[in-house]
Amino acid sequence: MPRHKEETGRVCAGMTIDSNTFCDRIWRGARLATMATPPIDDGVVACLDGRIVYAGDSALAPALDAAEIFQCDGRWITPGLIDCHTHLIHAGNRAGEFAQRLAGASYEETARAGGGIVSTMNATRAASEDALIACALARLDALIGEGVTTIEVKSGYGLSLDHETKMLRAARRMGVERNVTVRTSFLGAHALPPEFAGNADGYIDEVCNLMIPAIAAGGLADAVDGFCEIVGFSPAQIERVFAAAKAHGLPVKLHAEQLSNSNGAALAARFGALSADHLEHLDAAGVTAMKAAGTVAVLLPGAYYFTRETKTPPIAALRAAGIPMAVATDCNPGTSPLTSILLAMNMAATLFRMTVDECLAGVTCNAATALGLQNETGTIEVGKSCDLAIWDVDELAELVYRIGANPLHSRVRMGRE
Ligand SMILES: [Zn+2]
Repeated sequence: MPRHKEETGRVCAGMTIDSNTFCDRIWRGARLATMATPPIDDGVVACLDGRIVYAGDSALAPALDAAEIFQCDGRWITPGLIDCHTHLIHAGNRAGEFAQRLAGASYEETARAGGGIVSTMNATRAASEDALIACALARLDALIGEGVTTIEVKSGYGLSLDHETKMLRAARRMGVERNVTVRTSFLGAHALPPEFAGNADGYIDEVCNLMIPAIAAGGLADAVDGFCEIVGFSPAQIERVFAAAKAHGLPVKLHAEQLSNSNGAALAARFGALSADHLEHLDAAGVTAMKAAGTVAVLLPGAYYFTRETKTPPIAALRAAGIPMAVATDCNPGTSPLTSILLAMNMAATLFRMTVDECLAGVTCNAATALGLQNETGTIEVGKSCDLAIWDVDELAELVYRIGANPLHSRVRMGRE
């Protein structure tokens, strides 16, 4: 990409661009939802080496030139979308189990027939790293096709060191196979593998003493997650996992208060968690603890919908406390086989009564904070990665309002389509 030309120095929004340097790309004539300022009617975004060097009103922009200039014809530009909670890497699916239950089978009957999380664990253990990537890429491509530029991916179906690291390597490799930022979370404390039946504490020993040290040493995880629930792990067990994560310099997050109130969010907040996720049964004490710790509330309406849950998360209390709320797909084969971030936004609005602005912040700036990436992406601001989604809509509310539509015009990550 040629970027050199004889001319005088110029300044882009406080960042001096070398006198011989062009921007790489400029988008003009856009309506901008920067998520850091009020919307801008006639906006410009300029990119150099993958970073935003100007974003704002075209009337206030410095003289800008670039190798490539895109005319946006009044289209809306938002930050590239962020799906901050997924279980994208897994083998198999649970469609058969879904069909059996609709035909009247009980959970016990489907479990006896080999269903449930153990069936996904078996399929994932049996799959090679390449096979895991191949089936996850189809799901990833669906999200990318809706403007997603950053995605979080959890382990948690391997449940042994070898298979958990295989999942995490597969997740990292998706960021090489596609133009997308991948953040990984180690979710060893997701379910009890059959070989540890009746010995959950023994399995947590293995998570803390074997898996976390190896995964941290290998640089395979950006965070450590857990499932704190009566059918998952107890607060005391999760506390041990978090202590091990902290000892290895890894931030934590938690599946908390999904089916009951175990005070998981408050436990996560005590460890300075990036996020507490689900939260249908969160109480006032949990809200207070999350607020004090700056923990993001990640809301997962796809799981709420698919499991036909009736208790909604305490949105009004989270809103009143000023806790940042994110929205994600929770894409997983058991409780949220959802690969549409736009539908997750619609569900957050219709099922949880979140506003359009809250839904948009939920998949941009607040999702970035839930991943610790708030200085890197999630808003259109100078210095951040040039991650953009360009939309064929007249108003932003259409992104939340429509069901099954995909008005994405184009998508840019680190300045590249
Ligand atoms: Zn989850």
